[in-house]
Amino acid sequence: MTTATRGEPAPIPTPRPQAVLTPLNTGSEALWAYDPAPERIRPEISPSYGLFIGGTFTPSASGATMPTLNPATDETICQVARGEQADVDRAVQAARDALPAWSALPGKERGKYLFRIARRIQERARELAVLETIDGGKPIRESRDIDIPLAAAHFFYHAGWCDKLRYAFAGREPTPVGVCGQIIPWNFPLLMAAWKLAPALACGNTAVLKPAETTPLTALRLAEICKEVGLPDGVVNIITGAGETGAALVNHPGVDKIAFTGSTEVGKRIAKAVAGTKKKLTLELGGKSPNIIFEDASIDQAIEGIVQGIYFNQGHVCCAGSRLFVQESVLDDVVTRLQRRLASLRVGDPLDKNTDVGAINSKAQLETIERYLQAGRDEGATLHEVNGSTLPSAGSWCRPCFFTGVQPSQTVAREEIFGPVLAVMSFRTPDEAISRANNTPYGLAAGIWTDKGSKIFEIASRLKAGVVWLNTYNKFDPASPFGGFKQSGFGREGGMHGLRAYVRL
Ligand code: NAD
Ligand code: MN
Repeated sequence: MTTATRGEPAPIPTPRPQAVLTPLNTGSEALWAYDPAPERIRPEISPSYGLFIGGTFTPSASGATMPTLNPATDETICQVARGEQADVDRAVQAARDALPAWSALPGKERGKYLFRIARRIQERARELAVLETIDGGKPIRESRDIDIPLAAAHFFYHAGWCDKLRYAFAGREPTPVGVCGQIIPWNFPLLMAAWKLAPALACGNTAVLKPAETTPLTALRLAEICKEVGLPDGVVNIITGAGETGAALVNHPGVDKIAFTGSTEVGKRIAKAVAGTKKKLTLELGGKSPNIIFEDASIDQAIEGIVQGIYFNQGHVCCAGSRLFVQESVLDDVVTRLQRRLASLRVGDPLDKNTDVGAINSKAQLETIERYLQAGRDEGATLHEVNGSTLPSAGSWCRPCFFTGVQPSQTVAREEIFGPVLAVMSFRTPDEAISRANNTPYGLAAGIWTDKGSKIFEIASRLKAGVVWLNTYNKFDPASPFGGFKQSGFGREGGMHGLRAYVRL
């Protein structure tokens, strides 16, 4: 640059060596591969864990337990208590007892506890990341760089709101809702606990949280953290258990608000159970989110975003970009580059720092995904399985893959698969892209890939989705609200909007 401005010819750039696009992990074909880089920390894990009620770990009333497994090895990690009606009764009572003092605490004081929880999550981050990966199968890189830091960020963010709630609801007097029953899924175990607990506590509520049956361990560590920071007993209670435990919480008359994240099917059941009661309800359900690539997009950037959108966390993401609409003129190019990128993803040991795609969360989820793969083939779509990673012999695994030749009426274009499976379709005009993208009972998220700012604003305003990402995907921040349209649920989590679910005005 400087040479050129002095009137001399710009130096001719030396050509960069072309990247060699040989698939990795394909045995004899592999040109080079990464050495294993396993995470070596092994957090201490007790053989069994109790329920966290009123500040104490206690066995379930019946003594019932259930195992949690490592989905990458099929090994049982430990036993956790299986909470039943009597346990839910005790937990709700503990939350109710803690409510008057906690809600009367000045916001500034409540904020200090949230701040301490956030700090303690940071201090124990490595241990939490490893546990998340062992219990749920997600790559350590993701739990380390995304789940745990974001969980801490949610507590930091809401610590700041504690003494400023009156500014969030200008001219009105926000008061707590009361005892919150919170039920979360297995795809982001600690992060979902943070999404639920941080705003509830910030607004002066107490909570009973039920983690998913396959991933209870980090929520139990969070219970330890609540104790470590001196959070008053009963403000947070954690009840491990299965669907019936969740149902007991939903139906408990002592609960003032239910917040649920999980499948649309269970969400509908909860909505029915809560209808006609005084309970407040927010639901964050499934999705079939579209990514739209226009011909003027930066294709390589788009491919990275698409890959991030659907293969991140094995596709166990409610807002996964599971439908891809590509403008017809660039369809072949996109498919070729997608194939090439897919071949280079490393699938395997979630504790290896080089792993891109980890284990499927459970055998049941793997069976669901496999049923969808079969349905796609049966209905005439073409399945592209180009990844050649050598998969471990034990555990639940699914190589990232995609379908082309997909018709909008086919199962793989309509239903949430919740796995690393993408449905690729094409479009000709922006109007067609919008109508096809919106042609779904869901509306959680969407992505738009184009170089034209005006197109971005036009398309984004016409997509019926709670979050629309522009030239990026799956970016989260505690300050931005998240939630769905249509069957993806109602209510927002995060940001100032998310506080609304946890106050009465
Ligand atoms: P799920 O909806 O059954 O489970 C989510 C949570 O709800 C768990 O804690 C579970 O114990 C609890 N639960 C189950 N039945 C309940 C009931 N009747 N009352 C109260 N709580 C209940 O989800 P799943 O079976 O683990 O997964 C099934 C499908 O759900 C997946 O294939 C995927 O499509 C979808 N899913 C969506 C999300 C999301 O973030 N939106 C998360 C997980 C799963
Ligand atoms: Mn597990």
